[in-house]
Amino acid sequence: RAFGIEFTKGGRRYVIKARREVVVSAGAINSPQLLMLSGIGPREHLAERNITTVVDLRVGYNLQDHWALGGLTFIINSTDSIRAERVATLNNVIEYFSQHTGPFSAPSGTEALAFIDTSDPGDEDGYPDLELLFVAGSLVSQPAYRQLFAIDRYVYDEVYGPIRNRDTWMVFPMLLLPESKGRIILRNKNPFEKPLIHPNYFSDGGHDQKVILHGIRKAIELSKTKAFQKYGSRLHDVPLPTCARHGFNTDAYWYCAMKTITNTIYHHCCTNKMGPSDDPDAVVDPKLRVYGVGGLRVVDASVMPHVPAAHTNAPTMMIAEKAADIIKQDWGIPITTRK
Ligand SMILES: Cc1cc2nc3c(=O)[nH]c(=O)nc-3n(C[C@H](O)[C@H](O)[C@H](O)COP(=O)(O)OP(=O)(O)OC[C@H]3O[C@@H](n4cnc5c(N)ncnc54)[C@H](O)[C@@H]3O)c2cc1C
Repeated sequence: RAFGIEFTKGGRRYVIKARREVVVSAGAINSPQLLMLSGIGPREHLAERNITTVVDLRVGYNLQDHWALGGLTFIINSTDSIRAERVATLNNVIEYFSQHTGPFSAPSGTEALAFIDTSDPGDEDGYPDLELLFVAGSLVSQPAYRQLFAIDRYVYDEVYGPIRNRDTWMVFPMLLLPESKGRIILRNKNPFEKPLIHPNYFSDGGHDQKVILHGIRKAIELSKTKAFQKYGSRLHDVPLPTCARHGFNTDAYWYCAMKTITNTIYHHCCTNKMGPSDDPDAVVDPKLRVYGVGGLRVVDASVMPHVPAAHTNAPTMMIAEKAADIIKQDWGIPITTRK
């Protein structure tokens, strides 16, 4: 049974005992780390790290995320895109804080999202497996982007150098329902060390790359529509040096490109999977209680069985709201709803 937690603050070590239960909410990377450090996790892996197993569960498996090809860029011949030197002005700051409009009102320059069911794009009630995230700028719009997206300087200069000063827009063709699964493992038994993240992107049989390719083709198709041609949109066609041998714009080229510039949008989840008691991969039950340990719940994105076809922040808040009600119910505390 979980009876409390131990932590350090300001150089001091504290132990806090829980009268009722402990709720772990450290996110999809760190919640599995905390469980494994506490002896809850795959027996073999814990033994490798000299940790005694309390309960043998598939903690850290099933890591899922949303990822995309980065750097799919279109050049325009007007000055309507977001460029750092034009956007970072006092007037824009004032406009945002006084009216919540202007370029700062587009989060990270994102101005439109499209959700597509690639198996049946015409079905309005379909379940999307692809998202197109439209950004009113690109890797050349802000000098810090090269480092932010961890792009090698040589690659950046070769591919994006020629359009360094141009107005551009970009699409992230993003996989929503990946078949590839990653894993979180412990580096060692030191709680102050970060765990190791193995995303295993594109480790499935080829499904994931096909969905992203569908998104690339769709984005190129959209760039040719009247609305985008108003701005003279044109696909930036300087190939990535490591993929050029496939011939720019072939399927093989894009498969190579998406594995060269792979962008996550940090929707990690699912590493303490919720499931019924007969699911060998489940870590928590439908009331989010850890199997085999009393007084211990996990409440965060790690309990999702599968990454949703949506950005993960709101679903995580919904999990938290639901968990609050479950916890109150379990302890006989009345649930009040806001009028
Ligand atoms: C850069 C970035 C941008 C994102 N943008 C969006 C977006 O635009 N829209 C969207 O829907 N989602 C977005 N997400 C995803 C979203 O933020 C997450 O899905 C969501 O926050 C998950 O909530 P969580 O409670 O599971 O984990 P978190 O929000 O990560 O909360 C975990 C908390 O636990 C703390 N913690 C971890 N380990 C320990 C420890 N050992 N001791 C004490 N505390 C600890 C952390 O500091 C953190 O405060 C983004 C994520 C990132 C990283």
